[in-house]
Amino acid sequence: MKIDSKGNLIVGSVAVLAIALLLISIFIITSINYIENENNQLKSNNEFKYIIDDYERNLEVLERQSIAEATQKVYNGLPIFDSKKQIKKNLDKLLKEKNKEFEKKYGVKISSQTVDVENTNSPWKILFKVKLNVQKNNIRYSNIVERNASVEGLKDPLPLAKLTIASGILTYDEKIHYKNAIAGYMVIHNFKSPESYIEATAPMYIIKCPYDPYIHHGDPGVLDDCLKKGYFHESADGSCYLCRLEGKGKCPHYGFEVFIQTHTFLKNESLSCPDHVVFSDHYNAAKINESDPNSLILDDAHRKKYGLI
Ligand SMILES: [Zn+2]
Ligand SMILES: [Zn+2]
Repeated sequence: MKIDSKGNLIVGSVAVLAIALLLISIFIITSINYIENENNQLKSNNEFKYIIDDYERNLEVLERQSIAEATQKVYNGLPIFDSKKQIKKNLDKLLKEKNKEFEKKYGVKISSQTVDVENTNSPWKILFKVKLNVQKNNIRYSNIVERNASVEGLKDPLPLAKLTIASGILTYDEKIHYKNAIAGYMVIHNFKSPESYIEATAPMYIIKCPYDPYIHHGDPGVLDDCLKKGYFHESADGSCYLCRLEGKGKCPHYGFEVFIQTHTFLKNESLSCPDHVVFSDHYNAAKINESDPNSLILDDAHRKKYGLI
């Protein structure tokens, strides 16, 4: 009896110990597996994050390219009736190519589509919304990516969109050479002194004028430098980039204006030279300096805005 009970006690203790050991082992193995899995997950998430960051960086470039392609269409003599639609179409095509490239590069399934193209409260920037879906193995990412694309450095589409290529406008040396195009347009509309605008010029690329506030254009040398560099200025009356693509000289959005510079010895009044006046508002003004053939023809309101009174 005594031996028996002692033996039972030993067997019982060994059994309890064995079970405890087994449980501890299971716990340790499970923990190690868990940590390993978590690390793997984190690793693939980091890689995933890198892919998405890379894609979003590419988006900015493609968005700008989609605007530039619309502008080039206008420069090739083709009209654009709905600039947002045209830019969306351009971007969706570019995105398709980029998605294929990413599938090859990273082994991800990727789809994206332009949801919206909008004006912002800055005329120099256009807001893009792109729906993005990325999938790798069992990780999925879905988001609407919002980015601003700058129009600075792009060509101004308005002169060609408004007057058409058939008007004889030429574009070279980073300038719009109007030749007889504005004069012809003024003759058709019966505006005063169309001959003043023969051989008028304007800058071709949208570059933001650094002389801000604009009242500083009255300081010595500033207006000369502004005209020489061909700067654009913010203006509530001027049309925005999206409307410029459609040939609208004026629009309800906050936009910009540029001086159309005349080169004439004529001293008579003619249309005031900011582009929204020449193409849309149509009011007359006199030269700032009568004896200078390159002087701007500018009305009082604009002279005030630029400190030229
Ligand atoms: Zn300026
Ligand atoms: Zn507009």
